Amino acid sequence: MLALQWREETDDCRLSTVNCRFKTKFFMLNIVIFGAPGSGKGTQSELIIKEYGLDHISTGDVLRSEMKNETELGKVAKGYIEKGQLVPDELIVDMLAKVLDSKKASKGVIFDGFPRTIPQAKALKEMLNKRGTDVSVMLNLQVDEPELINRLLERGKVSGRSDDNLETIKSRLDVYHKQTAPLADYYIGEGKHVAIHGMGTIEEIFGRIKDAVKNV
Ligand code: AMP
Repeated sequence: MLALQWREETDDCRLSTVNCRFKTKFFMLNIVIFGAPGSGKGTQSELIIKEYGLDHISTGDVLRSEMKNETELGKVAKGYIEKGQLVPDELIVDMLAKVLDSKKASKGVIFDGFPRTIPQAKALKEMLNKRGTDVSVMLNLQVDEPELINRLLERGKVSGRSDDNLETIKSRLDVYHKQTAPLADYYIGEGKHVAIHGMGTIEEIFGRIKDAVKNV
């Protein structure tokens, strides 16, 4: 079903069948996986990639790698990440455009942790439209707040992530409610939003995701 290829007649076909050429179009499955910190975006992304053969873009992973390599972007991002705040939109959008360009021949992409603001969602739409594609679906993982805090504290014991501590977790959740959660309405408006009950076992949640993707 994925990367479904079809051919479309170019304008030449209307003028002459001799000069008629076809241009090839591809259907890409582009998924935005969405939810609060700790809602299971990373875990479910890994299963989705295996099942559908998609590329994975996690802006958090890209930023952590920039931090590790002590690049200019990494140094700037560190200050925001350690306070649990969002890195400014312009930096994130430029970074994403570069990553997208490195993934030209793709069946589709799973966007994990991006977009996180309305301007980022609009920039994503524009970037994908320019490349002849669009977001196929936004999967909104819904998990109760005490469970989110519990999962992030548990992850903090093994992840070594400087932002998985109670103080930063609270600030990340606050930022999520104020700046990121309103994106659900944006994707409802686009007809792309699907709510996924994000409690239960990893397999149960993945089963719900597969059901949602079947209907894309
Ligand atoms: P994550 O790994 O997705 O939880 O991201 C970790 C941190 O990286 C976030 O708390 C933000 O500080 C930063 N970050 C990741 N993605 C974005 C984004 N799309 N926009 C702004 N900041 C981001």
